[in-house]
Amino acid sequence: MIKQNKSGLYNCPECDNPLTSEKEIKQGTVVECPACGTESEFITVKPPQLAPLEEEK
Ligand SMILES: [Zn+2]
Repeated sequence: MIKQNKSGLYNCPECDNPLTSEKEIKQGTVVECPACGTESEFITVKPPQLAPLEEEK
């Protein structure tokens, strides 16, 4: 689940670290969490939903 905080930013779905994106957020935008390194992709923007990109092994 994604949480939108008061600053209009988004929290990492893995570790809840606040994420920022200098890019325009749109479907497919990928943001990387500086705390845990997880890359997450906006799968939808209305409403905004982040899904972690996981490498298949
Ligand atoms: Zn994280």
